This record gives sequence, C-alpha cells and structure tokens, in this order.
Amino acid sequence: MAWDFETDPEFQDQLDWIAAFVAEEVEPLDLLWPGLEFTPLDDSRRAVVDPLKQEVRDRGLWASHLGPELGGNGYGQLKLSLMNEILGRSSWAPIVFGCQAPDTGNAEIIAHYGTPDQKARYLQPLLDGECFSSYSMTEPHAGSDPTLFTTRAVPDGDDWVINGSKFFSSNARTAAFLIVMALTDPEVSPYQGMSMFLVPTDTPGVEIVRNIGLGSEPPGEGSHALIDYRDVRVPADALLGGEGQAFAIAQTRLGGGRIHHAMRTIGLCNRAFDMMCERALSRETQGGLLAEKQFVQGFIADSYAQLAQFRLFVLQTAWSIDRYQDYRKVRKDIAAVKTLMPGVITDIVLRAIQVHGALGVSNELPLAQMLLTGPILGLADGPTEVHKVTVARQVLRDHRPSQDGWPTEHRPRKLAAAREKYAAYLDLEVGNL
Ligand SMILES: Cc1cc2nc3c(=O)[nH]c(=O)nc-3n(C[C@H](O)[C@H](O)[C@H](O)COP(=O)(O)OP(=O)(O)OC[C@H]3O[C@@H](n4cnc5c(N)ncnc54)[C@H](O)[C@@H]3O)c2cc1C
Repeated sequence: MAWDFETDPEFQDQLDWIAAFVAEEVEPLDLLWPGLEFTPLDDSRRAVVDPLKQEVRDRGLWASHLGPELGGNGYGQLKLSLMNEILGRSSWAPIVFGCQAPDTGNAEIIAHYGTPDQKARYLQPLLDGECFSSYSMTEPHAGSDPTLFTTRAVPDGDDWVINGSKFFSSNARTAAFLIVMALTDPEVSPYQGMSMFLVPTDTPGVEIVRNIGLGSEPPGEGSHALIDYRDVRVPADALLGGEGQAFAIAQTRLGGGRIHHAMRTIGLCNRAFDMMCERALSRETQGGLLAEKQFVQGFIADSYAQLAQFRLFVLQTAWSIDRYQDYRKVRKDIAAVKTLMPGVITDIVLRAIQVHGALGVSNELPLAQMLLTGPILGLADGPTEVHKVTVARQVLRDHRPSQDGWPTEHRPRKLAAAREKYAAYLDLEVGNL
C-alpha cells in the first residue's frame, strides 16, 4: 500500500531554495528583459544570467528533465513537476534552470534518436544552454492533421533536398537549428512516409518569411516563424532517426512537452490565484473586504478546488511516466491533462482579473497577458479537440459493447438475474408481496 502525498525533506529543501531563488533573483529578469528569453545573451545580460545558471548547476538542479548521462540529475517527472510548478511562475526561470520548452523536447528526441555525431553537434550546445532550437512541423495549410503536410525531402546523391513551407515554428529567428518534418516517401502511408531532419538555420534556402506575434505583440515582432524551405540541401546524416520515423519521433517529443507545459501551467495558475487572494484580503467595498463577499468567496473556492484537481492529475501522470518509462503507456492521461489546461488557467486568470477590477485588465499587472495562455495551450502541441479524441479512443479500448444490444445495467434483466440468484429467499416472501 504505497500512497504517499508528501515530499521527502531533502527534496523539499531544494524546492524551498528554488522558490526563494526564483522570486528574488529570477523574477526581476521578467520585468527587465521581457521577450528576450530566447535571444542569445549580450554582454550585459550574460553578466547577470550566467552566474544565476551557475548557482543552479552548483545546486545540482540544471536540466532536471534529463538523466545524469546527459548532464541532468535524473530526478524524473514527478520531481520535475514539483520544480516546474515553481519555475512556471516566471518566463525566465526555465532558461536559468536549463529546462525551457521547446528546447527540452528537442533535446529529448536528439538524445533518444540522434547519432553520436548529431549529439555532439546539436545536443551538447543545447544542454550547455548556449543555443536555442526550433521545431518546424506545422504548415500554413495544415496543423492538427500532420498527414496533410506536403513539405518534401527528396534524396539527391548523398544529400536530401527539402522544399516546402512551415508555419509557427517557435523561436526559429534565434534558433541555431531547426527540426523539420518532411515527406520522404509519398507512396506509403504518411505514418511511414515522413522523416525528421536536423537543419542548421543558416543553411542556404532557409528563409524566414516573417515572424508572427501573439495577441498584442507588434506586427513582425513575434517569435513564431513562417519559413520557406527552398531547395535546402542537407547531407544524409541530417536525418534524425531512421527514414519514415517522423511520427514516432513526434510522439516522443510531444508527450514530454505537453506534460511539462502542464507542470508550468500550475505555477502560472498559482501566481494568479495568489494575486486573487491577496486582492480579496486588501480591497474594501460596500462595507467590507472583497474576501467577505460570497461571489468572491465562490471565485476563491472554485479556483482552489479546480487547481487542486488539476495538480493531482498532473502529478499522478508524472508519476506514471516515471513508473512506465514509456510515454505511449501514459498517452491517455497526458492527452486528458492537455485538454484540461486551457480551461483551468483561463477560469482562474479571469476570476483574478475580475477581483482586481480595472487594474486587472491593465498593463500594470501580468493578468491580462496571462489570459492568452489558455487559448495558446489549447492549440500549441495540438488542439484540445484532437486530444479529446485521443482520450476517448484510449478510454474506449478498455470497454466492450453490450452482448445483446440491451445495456448491461438495464434494470429488467438485472432484476430477473437478482430474483433468480436469491429465488430461494424470495419464495419465502411471496406471500407478503
Ligand atoms: C504559441 C504557439 C506555438 C506553436 N509552436 C509551434 C512550433 O514550435 N512548431 C510547430 O510546428 N507548430 C507550432 N504551433 C502550431 C500548433 O501545433 C498548431 O497551431 C496546432 O497543431 C493546430 O494547427 P492549426 O493552427 O493549423 O489549426 P487547424 O489544424 O486548422 O485546426 C483549427 C481548429 O479546428 C478544430 N479541429 C481540428 N482538428 C479537429 C478534430 N479532429 N476534431 C474536431 N475539431 C478539430 C480545432 O478547434 C482546431 O483548433 C504553435 C502554435 C501556437 C499557438
């Protein structure tokens, strides 16, 4: 009987250190350098950020998503979850701890499928925190259905030549390399006919048409690129994994990526929730504190319960990943967590905004900006609807149709069976019926 909801004291010490370090040393960077998390460090930022990264390394907390063989600490997903709950409060914290998306997922697939040469060239600089990467899969005409992708890679001598367009490739503008999904064999099913390529961003023919921003970011200022690949020639050893392996690789990458987003989302929800509670206890109206108004109490109670449910589900899923060491075995729960994320954060942030009144929607608090996180999480790494389909399919695998068309719970049949089972006793009662 091994149910345990406690963190061991040694790791709790680490968590306490992380919480204080992030609040005191890292959150100021969010205010000083917003949006520069994925821009290579200039001298002034390096002077601040490098020592912070070193402190994290000295505590043995660098790149905690990875095992010791790759420079991480091998904590596993459950501990990572407890850490990410804290890191998710700050946009710079994942960078300072060497575990930022999308680089974590990209590092994971190179670690898993890369050759020794590919690991030396692409993985090591990522692990050192000295470069960024971009995952280039979605196309302008197709996102949630990858079987529609048309970007093509054709063998030519010892090389591959890639042609096509990709959309919303996050951080491509500052990435050292791109992981590009392309059709290599149109004669077979897309599930076997697509492959992944490691493409340095400065390869001739890679053209960022424009950078797309989110919400109110100024036009051209965003970090999600529309990219044209025009006769992009890469050597045979640019192929990641085997030919036709793209779907398997994508599943490895996105499984980890999705649950890591969920862990950080808890952190963001906690931040909005804390703000809501503080405001409720600080603001008076119509003869009393907001905290004494039943509507506000409802906001707080609903948010508390919603977040506790979500957190437990994320932690249990993280525990399952550690236990099975195979994302495919936890696919249903990862997909289910993914479908919950947008709703939980949107509900909590909206309530926090409401409790803050006009200040809540202003640009003097982070809440209005946080509000876009819900819709973003409902799309990035696949839309909610597609994940619901996955959940339902996986759930239904564990169920069977009824044998004769009548529901198993149909009362007349169950009653007849119950009567038959206890007929000897019922006979005695007949006279009283
Ligand atoms: C912030 C952000 C970062 C991103 N970063 C990257 C990145 O780094 N690399 C990358 O390759 N892509 C990235 N994406 C793209 C993301 O993967 C796609 O947006 C996503 O897969 C959906 O594709 P789409 O936008 O083309 O929408 P579509 O495929 O056009 O879908 C639109 C809508 O149709 C509905 N829908 C789709 N399929 C179904 C279905 N089966 N059943 C019911 N309804 C359905 C859903 O409501 C869906 O939202 C990013 C997206 C965002 C928002």
